[in-house]
Amino acid sequence: MNATLDTGIDLHCHSTASDGTLSPAAVVAAAHAAGVRTLALTDHDTLAGLDAARTAAASLGLHFIDGVEISTRWRNRTIHVVALDFDPAHTMLHAGLAGLQAQRCIRAAAIATRLEALGLRDALPRAQALAAGGQITRAHFARLLVADRLCRNAQQAFKRFLGTGKPADVKCDWVPMAEAIGWVHIAGGQIVLAHPLHYDLSRTQLGNLLRDFQLAGGVAVETSTATTSTEDRARVAAMARAHGLCGSRGSDFHDPSQSWRRLGAAAPLPESLEPVWARFRVPPPVCPLQPPVAAFSPASPPS
Ligand code: AMP
Ligand code: MN
Ligand code: MN
Ligand code: MN
Repeated sequence: MNATLDTGIDLHCHSTASDGTLSPAAVVAAAHAAGVRTLALTDHDTLAGLDAARTAAASLGLHFIDGVEISTRWRNRTIHVVALDFDPAHTMLHAGLAGLQAQRCIRAAAIATRLEALGLRDALPRAQALAAGGQITRAHFARLLVADRLCRNAQQAFKRFLGTGKPADVKCDWVPMAEAIGWVHIAGGQIVLAHPLHYDLSRTQLGNLLRDFQLAGGVAVETSTATTSTEDRARVAAMARAHGLCGSRGSDFHDPSQSWRRLGAAAPLPESLEPVWARFRVPPPVCPLQPPVAAFSPASPPS
């Protein structure tokens, strides 16, 4: 596979339907302006932004892929899987995601109670107002902690309050990974293991995760994100290949102010991997535009 074939493809980003800050139509417009020619919107546990994004993409001539990033559970850990190119009207997918959305509401109330005890005023109504009808995520609480100057930035909010084992870390009983993969299969889609290096897994554990993911029907691993180094990309690609998995590419864009994950900003797929988009029902157009992949070097979030 030629690296030039994946220029202009971004298969992982967020809008106000979950924890992004741009509306779905604005994400599409920003992606188009950034040179993205095939885009999947992949909000957390919701399909709510897809219609608006699809309409905006059609008016710009951008190739749009329906997507969603599903919060799942594997061996007591939260694992994100990105579903792509499914039937967005499929009842089972909607029903499954509705269960996760209900859990998000319940968890938000529990997180708010803990943060209020730690000094954040009116945490729940303010988080609900920020989410404005979209899914409430920990990222919304992080923004409140920053706005009230209880934390310097979102990273610090996770480090001090919201991250694993921290005072406002409320466990959520997400769907078992294999079950979520089943929903997506039935809806005709492809499923990608998101950001495999974000789970703090040993090499053996990551190998086990890839094996279980593949056995359950997972198709691809996100080998190229906006923050993956060349070495990590090669390492993950080798593991993906060993487990018979394809590769995928996505920025995980959330907000234009986050310079380390811009729309379209991810290195090309390693040449040795089949791209997940080769399995899409309608193949994405080959894009003649060249983002500066040769000079690509991942940026890091502030610590
Ligand atoms: P949730 O799905 O509600 O648990 O929220 C998780 C979201 O919070 C992720 O999708 C990220 O957007 C954001 N997030 C997770 N960890 C961090 C971190 N350490 N710093 C900043 N944002 C984070
Ligand atoms: Mn997010
Ligand atoms: Mn994720
Ligand atoms: Mn994401």
